[in-house]
Amino acid sequence: MDTLIRRPRIDPKFAAFELAIRKSKIHRYGVYAEERIPANRKVIEYTGERLNRRETKLRGEGEYTYLFTLDKYWTLDGAFGGSGAEIINHSCEPNVVSRIMKGHVIYMSLRTIEPGEELTVDYNFEYVGDRTSCACGAPKCRSVMERMTPELERALAKHKAARTAAKSKAAHV
Ligand SMILES: [Zn+2]
Repeated sequence: MDTLIRRPRIDPKFAAFELAIRKSKIHRYGVYAEERIPANRKVIEYTGERLNRRETKLRGEGEYTYLFTLDKYWTLDGAFGGSGAEIINHSCEPNVVSRIMKGHVIYMSLRTIEPGEELTVDYNFEYVGDRTSCACGAPKCRSVMERMTPELERALAKHKAARTAAKSKAAHV
């Protein structure tokens, strides 16, 4: 996993366009378009070691994980045999989307992507009590990487109310 973190790379076998990995303002490294990508095109396939539910649980606890949930049972670990797609950062207003086709995860462009633009995907994590904070910088950033559900909405509202209360208390001291 070390080599991936130090020297992440794009495997051209799985990329349909010229892509490059560079430092990102969003998080560590990011994947950038090196040429114009039209809308609705395959950009890159997400590859990685196939893990079952038990193996996923063991792997999913490091500081940097590159896991893609394929379905209820299978997960791809991009840290091993990853195409470079695992480096694509999350955004609440992404320019690519993942589609699962016959067991393959394909990242498709949602709109035209200009050369030099960073590729982003909505991670849509499942909310199971833990929130992953987001700093993607999009105007519509929902502040977390989890998919919005009524339960998550309530948790965020509660969190916001607690922060507001703490602030006004501090202001009155
Ligand atoms: Zn965001």
